[in-house]
Amino acid sequence: MREVIACHCSQCRKQTGLYYAATNVLDSDLDLEGAENITWYRSSPGARRGFCKTCGSALFWKRESDDYSSIMAGVFDTPSGLAFGVHIFCADKGDFYEINDGLPQFAQSNS
Ligand SMILES: [Zn+2]
Repeated sequence: MREVIACHCSQCRKQTGLYYAATNVLDSDLDLEGAENITWYRSSPGARRGFCKTCGSALFWKRESDDYSSIMAGVFDTPSGLAFGVHIFCADKGDFYEINDGLPQFAQSNS
């Protein structure tokens, strides 16, 4: 799985109260059990967010044109083997915290 990316965009900020932290995996490597328990919300044109229909936990972000799915890093049992990588959409971050972990920061996307 990819390094964990922290997304500080306004959608992620407002959904979580802080920011999204997500890894990703190729769809061909993703074996999903219990898909009937996931609700998908179209959050923007061409992209959707998946969450648990019972408890509301954020689980996925999926751009439909991509062959991979973003998975919230916090959903894995520990030790996850994941590591933080970069911060994106820092221009939209909340005004009540600073990012000072020394990792790369991008005002918008990093791609
Ligand atoms: Zn975001």
